[in-house]
Amino acid sequence: MRTIGILGGMSAASTQIYYARLCEKVRARLGGLHSPQLLIRSLDFAEVEALQQADEWAQAGRLLNRHAKALQRGGAELLLLATNTMHKVADEMMAGVDIPMLHIADATAAAVAAAGLSQPGLMATAFTMEQTFYTDRLRGAGLQPVIPGARDRAEIHRIIYDELCKEIVLDESLTAFESIARRLVASGADSLILGCTEVGLLLNDQNTPAPAFDTTDIHCQAAVRWALDES
Ligand code: GLU
Repeated sequence: MRTIGILGGMSAASTQIYYARLCEKVRARLGGLHSPQLLIRSLDFAEVEALQQADEWAQAGRLLNRHAKALQRGGAELLLLATNTMHKVADEMMAGVDIPMLHIADATAAAVAAAGLSQPGLMATAFTMEQTFYTDRLRGAGLQPVIPGARDRAEIHRIIYDELCKEIVLDESLTAFESIARRLVASGADSLILGCTEVGLLLNDQNTPAPAFDTTDIHCQAAVRWALDES
């Protein structure tokens, strides 16, 4: 089994899900007492979020780069950046790093396309929905992402940072997310990308009006296949 390095803490709530999912998937695949070989560098999300707010993405990239190098030194053979948003600085993070990184948007786009779908509604942070670093990657894989309207984008962003990143899960936010998902489908989405690693705390295939693609789950599935040399 190969060793996965997780660059996490963005947020801590999502990294806990990564750890649980990776463990479940390896156990399901190998049975018995098997569990993944992992290294986790968990950052202080307050520091990262302050850089996002200040538009200091270059500094954020340097911070992630230091941690990516530490994971490599520690013996990681593959990197998972356990957040969609911070993939904005994936290139900066990987400067001088020799081990591969499994890009969350690529893994997700492949899963959507493999299901025969092409117009995913994107529910994510404002950075991920409004800038091009993520949507261009989806378009490059042949998808046409459907982006929520301005009010819905602001509401998704608020719920992610004020609640989900702090492990606060509220009924009214579930209702809001379900309504936004319905509006995305009404405006042409044939599927939904849960494009923030905490959104699965509220939405899943059971409560969405179209197939849901949970980026956390897809990222973990792809990493386990790679770690077990099945990809
Ligand atoms: N985990 C989130 C994501 O997948 C948001 C937190 C962050 O800004 O990194 O985008």
